[in-house]
Amino acid sequence: MKKGLCGIYPGTFDPITHGHVDIIRRSLKIVDHLIIGVASNDRKGPIFSSEERVALVKEEVQLADNLDASRIEVKDFGILLMHFAEQNNADILIRGLRAFTDFDYEFQMAGMNARLNTSIETVFLMASEQYQFISSRFVKEVCLLKGDISKFVSPHVQKELIQKMKTL
Ligand code: ADP
Repeated sequence: MKKGLCGIYPGTFDPITHGHVDIIRRSLKIVDHLIIGVASNDRKGPIFSSEERVALVKEEVQLADNLDASRIEVKDFGILLMHFAEQNNADILIRGLRAFTDFDYEFQMAGMNARLNTSIETVFLMASEQYQFISSRFVKEVCLLKGDISKFVSPHVQKELIQKMKTL
């Protein structure tokens, strides 16, 4: 059922932040169909299970303002990213870039992926200035120490994160 340009935006989304949503919004200006790939066996050791992360992303996509959810699919994947992209007939891979910190890792990954599959291009997008500094990792740290995370995540993610912290 492939129509138009299909992009995959992969990540851990532990949990989804305003930074991720900004990249999703921008991606929809480029692709017709966007698959948000939630990495299930992530080496970062996520605090939410992959089912929980998928559910949070789905909820976020539905609730976010001016986001055409009909063009978005959320799927988890536990295989090599390029295999996941091939299985879904994706044309491009979308990654977000934050300042300098992401560059080294992203540069290497894009290079490796380009060798694994020469027909899928990696496209880097920058979040707008106010979201550039947000990372799931710092959101979790601030939340664990009872800081206010309302500027970084949506109210429902905030609620779920506070709940999750109580179980850790
Ligand atoms: P994190 O690095 O915060 O744990 P993910 O692994 O879920 O996040 O990231 C998925 C993708 O989204 C990566 O390409 C990452 O660089 C990008 N990303 C995450 N947060 C932001 C942000 N605030 N601005 C731009 N890109 C971001």
